[in-house]
Parts: sequence; structure tokens; C-alpha cells
Amino acid sequence: MRRIAIVGAGIGGLTAAIALTRRDAECVVVEQRPALGDEGTGIQISPNAAAELLDLGVRLDFAVPVAQRELRRWQDDRVLGRTDLGRYDVPYLTMPRGALIGALREAAGGSRIVLGRRCVAVRDDRTSAVLGFDDGTAGRFDAVIGADGLRSVVRGLTCSATPAHSGLAAGRAVLPRAAAGRFVDTDRVVVWLGPGRHCVTYPISHDHVNLVVVAPSARFDGWHPSVRGLIALAGRMRPRPLYDMPPLPVWHHGRVVLLGDAAHPILPFIAQGAAQAIEDAVTLADRLDFAGFQASRQERVRQVFAMSRAGLRVHHLPDGPEQRIRDRALAAARPDAHD
Ligand code: FAD
Repeated sequence: MRRIAIVGAGIGGLTAAIALTRRDAECVVVEQRPALGDEGTGIQISPNAAAELLDLGVRLDFAVPVAQRELRRWQDDRVLGRTDLGRYDVPYLTMPRGALIGALREAAGGSRIVLGRRCVAVRDDRTSAVLGFDDGTAGRFDAVIGADGLRSVVRGLTCSATPAHSGLAAGRAVLPRAAAGRFVDTDRVVVWLGPGRHCVTYPISHDHVNLVVVAPSARFDGWHPSVRGLIALAGRMRPRPLYDMPPLPVWHHGRVVLLGDAAHPILPFIAQGAAQAIEDAVTLADRLDFAGFQASRQERVRQVFAMSRAGLRVHHLPDGPEQRIRDRALAAARPDAHD
């Protein structure tokens, strides 16, 4: 049996623990935070990732199946486009992040999860991978998986690249569904597109919706009263800067490998960062030769990264000829366009 340390009990790290334990590996997950499951906001899990989680036996019965995504114009709330999300075998799910982490933790019951311990050093001495922790202790493992996110410490072993600030920040809030329903259809994913910024809402439970605003600053002057109403409902949000980084050319070094945001932080324009971390984790458990894992994931992740960067441009077009072409294309692609 292989003894594997996973640094980070986020979505990627916990999924890796579940998938590897099924392959008879003995996993220890080391997490710097003192507690799990208190992540307050929501997350969208698209069918490609939901299918993997359900296959692993992760309980997702608390999640909300969403049938449609609607794109609206910033100024007048006009519907620009609609996409059917309910056309796959597995539903498009939205949920509280904390509940997802809780479900992953429950399914990872076969792994030891050590909380409140920060990894500060990693090395490969050819016979084992060695982790150093902030409490002065160290551990030796057959392999180490760096699932430690955007600010990965483990990444330092493979390269010196660092994520770049996009110039944008994301503010997030959870709103009571009844109050939000005065401004938006709370059964859908709704995205308002505008010059240099956008705003998203989606349900995460029977009683709550998630609000995300992505912008260089928190000002939405001139936007439709529905958007401003939702932002007012949220009260003071603490926007956090958004970073991304082109997928690394090399994701592994000796007995150490990276997955998820540690290897490829992606801007949240197509809601695929966590989904890609889940796909990574499942593929890694299938292929514990790290070069093979990287080879089977790299092109897919490059494409998703490129789509997300393109999403940034297309979502945030200033009003003008390009925006009008985009809006015409969205209207033509509506499922009801030819009714
Ligand atoms: P993380 O979630 O960052 O987890 C890393 C874990 O490692 C953390 O728990 C951290 O505390 C721990 N850690 C870090 N360093 C150390 C250390 N040195 N020692 C021990 N522990 C450590 N993706 C989607 O698929 N759908 C969405 O709807 C979506 N919405 C998003 C909205 C916003 C505003 C943002 C910013 C991102 C969104 N994403 C979404 C992207 C998604 O959140 C990330 O891609 C995903 O969380 C990455 O998972 P991960 O496990 O790789 O890293």
C-alpha cells in the first residue's frame, strides 16, 4: 500500500483522497485551516464534475439542480441569451461550498485529515517525499500531492511561476431567496453582462441564493435597478482580487505532483476551476505515474483556461460594435430562437 500525503483539504485535495483510497492508497490530508465546512458562499458544479463525484459515492442530495442559465444586459435587464443546462444525464448542480466540503469530507472517511497544520517545505530525497510543517514536525511519504490552491507552497518544488492579478476582484454574498426574488428569477443561473464587469446569481438551497460581482471596483452606477437592488441587499461585500496563471508546463517533480488551482488557477468566468480540480483528482487516482497524469490532463486544462480568458473578454465588452455582434450571436443561440 502506498502512503500518500495530500496538502490541502479543498475540493481537489478531498476528491483525490476519496479516489485514491478506493485504489487502496493510505492518504493523509494536511490542511492549514483549523476547521472545514465554514466556506460561506456558493459554487456551481457542472455535469462533467458532478458525474465524477456521484461515481465516487459523494452524497449531493442537498444540491439544487438548475435547468437554465440566462444572460442579461447590464443597463436594461434585457435577456440576451439562454442556455439549457438540463440536457445532460447528470444535472447541473449549485450548492453551498461548505456543504460540498462537508460531503467530500464524509466520503473521505477512510483518510486521516489533519487540521490546523500548515505545510512550509517540501523536498524529494529520491527514496521518499518529505514535508515540513509550521509546528516544526516533518513527515515522510511515498508520494505528495500538492492540492494547496492558488498560493501553493508545494508548487515551489516544480517551478518559480506565480499567479498574475487580473485587475478584477470578486465580491460574494449569500442572500435570502425570498428577498432576492424581488429582483431576479431565483431558479436559474442569471448573469448580467456589462462593460468591464459582470454580476451572477444562482440558487444554492431552498432558502438562499448566491451573488457574485466581478469588477475592478464595487461600483455599479447606471446598472439596472435589479442588479443594484441585489448588491444593496448584500450590504458590505469584501471583494477579493482574482488571479490566474497559464497551466504549468510541468506539474510534477519526482514523488511530488500538483493538481487543481496549485497547477492551474483559472478565472471564474465559466465556473470550471473546481470542476477541473475534481477531474484532475479522479485522473490522478487512475494514473499514479505522474508524467502520464500530466499528459492526460494538460490539453484539457489548457482549453478550459483559454475559454475562461476568452470569457473575461466577452463578458466584459464595452458597449459598441463587438458587443452588438456578441449580443446578436447570443440571441441566435437561444433554445427558443427558432420557435
Ligand atoms: P482550494 O480550493 O484553494 O483549496 C486549497 C486548500 O489548501 C485550502 O483549504 C487551503 O487552506 C489549503 N492550503 C493552502 N496552503 C496550504 C499549506 N501550505 N498547508 C496546508 N494547507 C494549505 N469553480 C467551479 O468549478 N465552479 C464555480 O462556481 C466557481 N466559482 C468561483 C467563484 C469565485 C469568485 C472564485 C474566486 C473561484 C470560483 N471557482 C469556481 C474556482 C474554484 O473555487 C477553485 O478552482 C477551486 O476551489 C480549486 O480547488 P483546489 O482544491 O485546487 O484549491
